[in-house]
Amino acid sequence: MTVSDFFAASYAEARDKFRASARAAGATLTAYENPKARTPDGGPLTTDVACLGPADAKRVYLTSSGTHGAEGFCGSGCQVGFFAERLYEAATPDTKIIMIHAINPYGFAWLRRVTEDNVDLNRNFQDFNAPLPVNRAYADVHDWLIPADWDGPAKAAADRGILAYQQQNGMMAYQAAVTGGQYSHADGLFFGGNAPTWSNATFRRILAEHVPAGIEALCSVDYHTGLGPMGYGEPIYVGPARDEKTGGLDRARAWYGADVTNPNDGSSTSARVTGTVPEAFLDLPASVKVTAIAMEYGTQPVQQVLNALRGDHWLHARGELDSPLGKQLKRQLRDAFYTDTAPWKAAIFGRAADFALRSFRGLAG
Ligand SMILES: [Zn+2]
Repeated sequence: MTVSDFFAASYAEARDKFRASARAAGATLTAYENPKARTPDGGPLTTDVACLGPADAKRVYLTSSGTHGAEGFCGSGCQVGFFAERLYEAATPDTKIIMIHAINPYGFAWLRRVTEDNVDLNRNFQDFNAPLPVNRAYADVHDWLIPADWDGPAKAAADRGILAYQQQNGMMAYQAAVTGGQYSHADGLFFGGNAPTWSNATFRRILAEHVPAGIEALCSVDYHTGLGPMGYGEPIYVGPARDEKTGGLDRARAWYGADVTNPNDGSSTSARVTGTVPEAFLDLPASVKVTAIAMEYGTQPVQQVLNALRGDHWLHARGELDSPLGKQLKRQLRDAFYTDTAPWKAAIFGRAADFALRSFRGLAG
């Protein structure tokens, strides 16, 4: 296998490669089928989990792919390569490996960033019994994001509005308005939902069923794409929020170096966000030392990525998937989150392998 062979051209192929590589490594597989959606050609959508290592492990190394659907091309390749290159052999014998493949299988299969209910899974881990965060700036840009047409006057006017907003407030303010997460526009971009999605419940279920009782430390790497310089993997400290104050961020920097960024202090290409997946680790006993990062790999300039997302939301709200424009918008979405070239894949997997080894060293310490 070459490094490029770790990566797949579709959700179905990615799933096959993941299961085959996990099986060859001697891992145990569990499938969780999403009852709320199917693939575009009517097939089942599953999140697959591969586990390797003792049931009474003291440490857990956990990775997840496809939190943002189409970003799963990248994460899946990292996970397949992990098994194919037998990187697990570098773990201590008391470490359990848990690989979660396509936690948002709908988004992966449909080439979308959101779940089947238009939810950004990485904004969905909120306490829905408490007041939700308010993103007032999002309301200012929402109508521009999804205009009435995609190739007519409404789109042209919307683009002018966005440009003026960016000139007045700056690019980072625009990015924060759009991507920071919002709970007010269910048809909008970066919508965090009004209840836990299936993927949220499934992630928690996977933790409950596969993380051994009595572990002392858990390391989590969640693979993402779409921000930062092409091919660079930015390690973003992602919490859970509580642990920033109790040593999680310091630990991440001790393990991975000063490259680790933090959206809460402006050092990351990511805007400040809440309700991210690692909040689920608060389900674990408070004694468990959690070190969680998102590995964010660059693809295209952020404006291009955000425009691809606008196009995809427009397509699903107002367009036709089978039309020439629909196919073009899907192609743009795929390209925005997956740079389908051999050099990119080599950079992506090299960084993932490096961080797997550093994670094992950190967990062992
Ligand atoms: Zn992402």
